[in-house]
Amino acid sequence: MTLHHHLADAIVGPTDQSWRLRSACRGMDPELFFPSSGGDNSATKAICLTCPVRLQCLDHAIVHNEPGIWGGTSHSERRSLRRARRSVA
Ligand code: SF4
Repeated sequence: MTLHHHLADAIVGPTDQSWRLRSACRGMDPELFFPSSGGDNSATKAICLTCPVRLQCLDHAIVHNEPGIWGGTSHSERRSLRRARRSVA
């Protein structure tokens, strides 16, 4: 998965990813969403809080184990969510 794939400009894949076209991060610098580990990512997460497709984005990132900020969460936060999902499945 490339940095460009993260943004709404990404090519729509075999599954429906049309939600990307409505994302708040469309056209933004992808680097914002791939901060160095330990860096402050609160400003990026604040962008996600305004995003109309946050839940679709979050679900995609959990399913595909994406790196970076997706759906207002970091990779480590999603790891916890994945564990919680497995425990209720
Ligand atoms: S939730 Fe955040 S990372 Fe996901 S599409 Fe929206 S703005 Fe982009």
